[in-house]
Amino acid sequence: MDPRDIPPETWNDWRWQLRHSITADDLPHLLDLTADERAGLAAAPGLFRVGTTPYYFSLVDRASPHCPVRRQIVPWGAEARVAPGELSDPLGEDAHNPTPAIIHKYPDRVLLLAVDRCAIYCRHCNRRRLVGGDEPTTRAELEAAFDYIARTRRVRDVLISGGDPLTLATGKLDYILGRLRAIPHVEIIRMGTRVPVVLPMRIDDELVAMLRKHHPFFVNTHFNHAKELTPEARRACAKLVDAGIPVGNQAVLLRGVNSSVRSMRALLRGLLTMRVRPYYLFQGDTVVGTDHLRTGVDTAIEIMDGLRGWITGMAIPHLVIDAPGGAGKVPIGPRYLQEIRDDVAVVRSYRGQIVEYPQPAERDATVPYDDVFFAGEPPDDDREGG
Ligand code: SF4
Repeated sequence: MDPRDIPPETWNDWRWQLRHSITADDLPHLLDLTADERAGLAAAPGLFRVGTTPYYFSLVDRASPHCPVRRQIVPWGAEARVAPGELSDPLGEDAHNPTPAIIHKYPDRVLLLAVDRCAIYCRHCNRRRLVGGDEPTTRAELEAAFDYIARTRRVRDVLISGGDPLTLATGKLDYILGRLRAIPHVEIIRMGTRVPVVLPMRIDDELVAMLRKHHPFFVNTHFNHAKELTPEARRACAKLVDAGIPVGNQAVLLRGVNSSVRSMRALLRGLLTMRVRPYYLFQGDTVVGTDHLRTGVDTAIEIMDGLRGWITGMAIPHLVIDAPGGAGKVPIGPRYLQEIRDDVAVVRSYRGQIVEYPQPAERDATVPYDDVFFAGEPPDDDREGG
């Protein structure tokens, strides 16, 4: 499919893009596949979903199997292998599932799985066991999720995810957001979506007018490579930000796709020019069939060493391992703090200089006014007996 053959009003219709999703069956007719790609597609049925929008596919470099967009769409044969330690549920989410559409792992926030459909099925997806199946989230499951959140007063923050919630109709999203907003203890609502990357025409005036009714509302999107920062993606992010919706980015470190300092700097700098704040850089999750896409942790740390100090701090994401088994996100990175002594902390600068930071004489950091300001409030988390 050549975008030049499609009338612009059709190409820019997000429903048309979803209806004309490019599937595993289409790829051999559209690309001169390598043997490895052919093996990946042959293994796909029954194991993992393959599919993307015509828009995202139009970014593929047909001449190179190493194109970062192509690598995220087309499986390689290695995806059919399960490496030691790989899991279908690498983040242990299924053990924190009080009701089918809720994952509650952290003290004050929950994940609401609003839909199981995505606009793309990413080669590195950590929720591949759930997405693209035949069992979309039902109305009853959504109602049970609202009920759980309403009776769980410590939930201050709801992250709507899936699947990709922006593949839902605007009216249905409005209903979900409205139900959440009606719960007094829900302070903020966030949405995780790859739509600005793979279906940017979905971010239209009607959608942003609806979303802005539900502030404070945040979007976390998922650009992995500077090649994805197209004029269309820029327009989509600008619409969200202009509607007062802060947009963050959660990238995944993918071996041979974005695993170089140069490629990561270009992505992070480019995101800032779109007013998208880099938030997380994930070390690849240990999900089945992705060993070939993961970097070593040492490589991830070397890449971070090539970022901090070399580009603006606003562009620096938190590098995290989302710990296998559900222990949560663990920040990792270069060791800047060498030693803490009573008199000094010894630190290393980004250029490798060793510097001593003098410690203050008094060390008691109690805030006396806390007792006044938070009088009568319960403890903040379970470390304090809450
Ligand atoms: S868009 Fe997100 S949930 Fe969907 S396949 Fe990609 S990573 Fe997984």
